[in-house]
Amino acid sequence: MRTTRVAVVGGGLGGLTAAALLARGGCEVSLYERSKHLGGRAQTSDVEGFRFNLGPHALYRGGAAMRVLGSLGVKPKGGIPGEGSYALRAGRLHTLPRGAVSLMTTDVLTLAGKLELARLLAGLPRIDTEPLSRVSMREWLATRLSREDARALVGALTRVSTYCADLDSLSAEVAVSQLQMALAANVLYLDGGWSSLVDALEARAREAGAKLELSARVESVVLQSAQVHGLELADGTVREVDAVVLAGSPGDVASLVPGDAVLARDAADAVPVKAATLELGMSSLPRPEALFALGVDGPWYASVHSASARLAPEGGAMVHVMKYLTGADADPREADLEGVMDVLQPGWREHVVAKRFRPSLTVTHLLPSAKAGGLASRPTARVPHVSGLFRVGDWVGPEGMLADAAFASAESVARTLMQRQAAPRRAVGA
Ligand SMILES: Cc1cc2nc3c(=O)[nH]c(=O)nc-3n(C[C@H](O)[C@H](O)[C@H](O)COP(=O)(O)OP(=O)(O)OC[C@H]3O[C@@H](n4cnc5c(N)ncnc54)[C@H](O)[C@@H]3O)c2cc1C
Repeated sequence: MRTTRVAVVGGGLGGLTAAALLARGGCEVSLYERSKHLGGRAQTSDVEGFRFNLGPHALYRGGAAMRVLGSLGVKPKGGIPGEGSYALRAGRLHTLPRGAVSLMTTDVLTLAGKLELARLLAGLPRIDTEPLSRVSMREWLATRLSREDARALVGALTRVSTYCADLDSLSAEVAVSQLQMALAANVLYLDGGWSSLVDALEARAREAGAKLELSARVESVVLQSAQVHGLELADGTVREVDAVVLAGSPGDVASLVPGDAVLARDAADAVPVKAATLELGMSSLPRPEALFALGVDGPWYASVHSASARLAPEGGAMVHVMKYLTGADADPREADLEGVMDVLQPGWREHVVAKRFRPSLTVTHLLPSAKAGGLASRPTARVPHVSGLFRVGDWVGPEGMLADAAFASAESVARTLMQRQAAPRRAVGA
């Protein structure tokens, strides 16, 4: 029995996880990352001592990422946010309902809205989400809540737990599952930023024998009769392998297998979820008790991540502000995001040490829509028509959203390839 040789293309969380799991499972793994750094969208930059993730990143404590990281012996460190939370409506802050007391005292809802919301939240954990795959979140909200204020609040909670503002498209199966997970187990902001996950995965992959090459762009997958034969790198080198795991975007995957109409169609069909982000490193906070604002009448988010995790120098604060974008919102303005800070932290401008605005980041490559049929409609990790070809990412497979989907798809690819490794030798992934 010969060791299965696997090439992983992409050194973000998905690619690194696949590499670590496969190398641990006994495969001979080489990972190629085109940029100078590992991490992809999970990278963290150090700006004047402030740790800037690429937009606000929160790890779902009840999701696939935690499960897979646990299986690799990685224990993410950080803190759980929650204190000092407000709902933002019509340019004013209101108590954000987070439990029975805040629900009853907030003025962001009418009494009738509060009662409806309380009923919905009480029953939420028991909702079977699978039958909701073809129902949009907007339709679902309309059937469950008659009060507009309650619908707007659940819409805001949906945005913060899916990053998706297009409730007309988003499948209720996905949205309700994310709400269930977020409300049951909350999230973790990570000490040092998400690069702590990247570093831990890199270490696990290297320890297990995976070879990681940086500044190594893969040009194409070399096929022979619809079967993986190897990889061609940008410098023209060809590496022979038994299987290839593609861990980039749908467009990256299609471009690596030129002429493949199925992969080209997957890429064309994938509607991404995008966000505009503003990162702020501050010497201090004008209002230290105001730590989180969630837009109820607009797609706004602001959170002092350093209040829960080590992300700023002593006494300083690291704040993420975000606008959840829809396809119609092509030109978000920095001033709009700054306006959210004017409400949460009046006078903030005098405290700014470092600032970074990104008008459009891809949060996830594929919005799981009701029209397509929710999670089951996402491309499978194994590319069915090419033996030995796999893909990994936040747009792949039937489990989870965002990074959870990248981890879950990596786990599924590793499971399949390791079964092959253990089985008598034949074409990998055939
Ligand atoms: C603003 C923002 C906020 C987010 N917030 C959250 C959050 O709160 N919670 C959460 O779970 N997720 C969040 N995410 C999503 C999360 O960051 C991603 O799902 C995750 O990082 C995806 O990892 P990945 O490995 O699948 O893809 P990527 O990180 O995109 O990595 C792909 C890698 O492949 C490389 N590559 C592509 N083609 C080639 C090639 N031909 N040769 C070599 N290398 C190649 C790229 O350079 C890249 O490094 C957020 C994302 C953004 C942008």
